[in-house]
Amino acid sequence: MSTDADALATSGDAEYDYEQLGLVAGLEIHQQLDTETKLFCGCPTELREPEAADRRFNRRLHPTRSELGELDEAAVEESRVDREFVYLAYDTTCLVEEDDEPPRRVDEEALTVGLEIAELLGTTPVDRAHVMRKIVVDGSNTTGFQRTMLLASNGVVETGEGPVGIEDLMLEEESAQRVAETDHGVRYSLDRLGVPLVEIGTDPDIRSPVQARETAERIGMLLRSTGSVKRGLGTIRQDVNVSIAEGARVEIKGVQSLDDIDDIVRNEVRRQATLVEIADRLEERDAAVGELREVTELFAGTDSAVIESALAEGGTVRAVRLAGFDGLVGRELLPDRRLGTELADHAKRHGAGGIFHTDELPAYGITEGELAAVREQLPPDERSRPSSSALERRSTACLRRPAARTRTAPPSTCGRCPAPRGCTPRRTCPPSSPTPRQSRPRSF
Ligand SMILES: [Zn+2]
Repeated sequence: MSTDADALATSGDAEYDYEQLGLVAGLEIHQQLDTETKLFCGCPTELREPEAADRRFNRRLHPTRSELGELDEAAVEESRVDREFVYLAYDTTCLVEEDDEPPRRVDEEALTVGLEIAELLGTTPVDRAHVMRKIVVDGSNTTGFQRTMLLASNGVVETGEGPVGIEDLMLEEESAQRVAETDHGVRYSLDRLGVPLVEIGTDPDIRSPVQARETAERIGMLLRSTGSVKRGLGTIRQDVNVSIAEGARVEIKGVQSLDDIDDIVRNEVRRQATLVEIADRLEERDAAVGELREVTELFAGTDSAVIESALAEGGTVRAVRLAGFDGLVGRELLPDRRLGTELADHAKRHGAGGIFHTDELPAYGITEGELAAVREQLPPDERSRPSSSALERRSTACLRRPAARTRTAPPSTCGRCPAPRGCTPRRTCPPSSPTPRQSRPRSF
């Protein structure tokens, strides 16, 4: 805890000593440019209403090997979820957005604005910009990748708590706008796909929530000063990378409001610190995750409306013993977010309708008798096998430090890039990068 009472009173950071926790944060800022035409075709950069679409088509994601023969882990993971992507096209979009025609020229106006931003950030422009690919697994690009160019690197912005380095400035194509979740996947609108976008990545120099916000504000101001960036909701988005010494690197994507950045960093620190505490408690208790077993027949005559309706639709009930987790699954990580919420999110993503945990039971029509019957079905000292279910894997992850997060960005693949920003296929990984400031983040 800080001893500076005035600072505590004004900063709102009273809960944690961020220096002691080893907070490391970085930002990635995405800003749409207000150019006449798109980055790789002559279509206008105007947004449309989905109702104005004059055609639609669908695609599915299939991971393919890169030029190096490697499969992208995130793409493989995503393709396990069977989803269909539907795209809305307009009289203001063309075959380039549909990936039925190769990209044309790089938009000159976008390059000019990009270089102006490079100068404002004090970065050094590259001699020659090359178009590279960054794998995209969520369907937000028809190609399965995003085209991107490194424009400049090594700049700096000043903040009240010291300089924050600018690692790089990229010029890239904006993704398609997600307009709806459908029964089978996601519907995207192609109007936004290909709008020029600059991506500014800071070095992991940010050490407090307030400094994170100030950095974003400074960069936002520089961008607006060009007079050539789009304004309004959704035209600027920030990704915030946060880690603490014993936590995992977590990327929180798509923050639209500057006002939220300090609170987002604060909350993420609290969440990670609580997960580290939980991992410590689980270790003390020699906690173990059992194997998932089907217990549907125990609920044949259940009073639980949720289970009854799931069974009516042909669903099943499965249970797993989380030995030593008692009282911790209901532990609040953030307001309205418990460890159980994290487990449920992960299970749902992999096809479960939802989860109940015994910290919250009996309730929801599930009786003490049903709970006892379930407990009897689960061997007390069983440990899950490596080929376990999503819920088992996520629960098992709680036993380890650092604790991982389901919304974690794909982990760095080169092993050389410093936290908290990992390398992605588009980033040039230096042969020897600066010493990582913390242990390598883990994801699962
Ligand atoms: Zn076009």
